[in-house]
Amino acid sequence: MRERVEMPKQSPALRRENFNEVALGFQPEQAVEEARRCLQCKNQPCVGGCPVSVPIPDFIKLITEEKFAEAARKIKEKNALPAICGRVCPQESQCEGVCTLGKKGKPVAIGSLERFAADWERNLAMSDRQAAASLTSPEPAKKRVKVAVVGSGPAGLTAAADLARMGYQVAMFESLHATGGVLRYGIPEFRLPKGILEQEVAYVRSLGVDIQTNVIIGQTISVEELRTEGYAAIFVGTGAGLPYFLGIPGENLNGVYSANEFLTRVNLMKAYLFPEYDTPIQVGKRVAVVGAGNVAMDSARTALRLGAEEVSIVYRRSREEMPARHEEIENAEEEGVQLRLLTNPARLLGDDKGWVKGMEVIRMELGEPDASGRRRPVPVPGSEMVLPVDTVVIAVGQGPNPLLVKRTHGLSTNKHGNIQADEATGQTSLPYIFAGGDIVTGAATVIAAMGAGKTAARGIDDYLKSGKGTEK
Ligand code: FAD
Ligand code: SF4
Repeated sequence: MRERVEMPKQSPALRRENFNEVALGFQPEQAVEEARRCLQCKNQPCVGGCPVSVPIPDFIKLITEEKFAEAARKIKEKNALPAICGRVCPQESQCEGVCTLGKKGKPVAIGSLERFAADWERNLAMSDRQAAASLTSPEPAKKRVKVAVVGSGPAGLTAAADLARMGYQVAMFESLHATGGVLRYGIPEFRLPKGILEQEVAYVRSLGVDIQTNVIIGQTISVEELRTEGYAAIFVGTGAGLPYFLGIPGENLNGVYSANEFLTRVNLMKAYLFPEYDTPIQVGKRVAVVGAGNVAMDSARTALRLGAEEVSIVYRRSREEMPARHEEIENAEEEGVQLRLLTNPARLLGDDKGWVKGMEVIRMELGEPDASGRRRPVPVPGSEMVLPVDTVVIAVGQGPNPLLVKRTHGLSTNKHGNIQADEATGQTSLPYIFAGGDIVTGAATVIAAMGAGKTAARGIDDYLKSGKGTEK
């Protein structure tokens, strides 16, 4: 079996000093070589492993034929945001996780190939706008029924793109001044350059979607008012942006951030471009990040790039249970992030000016499995110790954004505040409202949000075709 072609990266020593993208992408010959490893399996397990059913063997075959732009077009039949998915999807547990080649060796680098094709087409679009337009031009609108999409994260962008392709007149409303949701304010530049997001948003716009920023649905204008303005159906993709805290003493000290605030300051308010953008962000020399998901890894690696000397991840379970993508854990360790596993924070200690100066932690050991099926961490008595820190970032999860939900009468939610929506259609307790992404599932993945956006677009189409949404 041929060796898998690994994507080149910036060296750890270099990349921890800058915010440029870590993975550098394939050259055409590397992409063709890797694409040739694909067996073109008849049963296509990889397609089944992809939440949006990208025709993986078909686009890989086009790469072997050096038809790179056609490969991108093939992916876009199912996935409007391939340059993003190629970079941030957990392929190891999806398409690559079920690739036939993975049974005896390494699976095809499907994510890297997806990224390559998408980047190729994007570069082509930049050098030859006309050619690109012929590749991506939308079908002309047929139906002029108005549909509103609330939230411009991956769920909203996907629903909007699909609905526009179906011929609906789509308006998208975003509460922030910039589009993209977590893709903009959460995932850092070194994993997902903002220029890529801009291009993907431009593609969605090119399909005829009218994007309006700085509009908070539920505050600037209500869902009921959207109805009155003639929107026959509404898709809600408002995400999970409400940070959870640990509930331990000292969390209100200066120098303690939620990951949400920390990453938003750096990404959305461009602290990474200091001194060009002078966003106040105080990062000390010793940073502890609590949590072990993608958000925690992004926070830790961002802190390093902002000049911290020692950055550690504090996590109460073991490495096996860390929810972050494997690749990102490896990247973080290579860059010098320390993992303090089986360690739980008990309280944060401050100095006389109210700044955090220490974290009291206790060692944990794994006991019996808990409700999540993972072994429950149990404190080891007498193992308390204090870690000296001057910045703490709490990355232990996020809850649903509550505003729209609270202000929309009759919209059913579960006990966590997530909107209840039908899995097969995205329809909620209010028939003209559909929902998907993190606002329904709780914090999940980009591709799951996109899959939900697709499902809801089909659900909306069926609902409107049945005449229910447009009757007076
Ligand atoms: P969001 O992306 O949260 O977008 C929701 C949008 O709705 C936001 O722009 C918000 O401003 C807007 N909004 C909210 N309320 C309103 C309102 N009332 N009116 C108008 N607009 C509103 N997933 C992966 O697959 N791979 C990764 O590597 C990965 N890394 C991550 C790193 C970080 C730091 C974070 C925070 C998440 C990460 N995720 C990752 C998870 C992934 O980004 C989310 O699951 C995904 O973005 C959810 O998409 P969404 O469209 O449902 O919501
Ligand atoms: Fe190719 Fe792997 Fe998909 Fe088979 S499962 S078609 S080898 S990518």
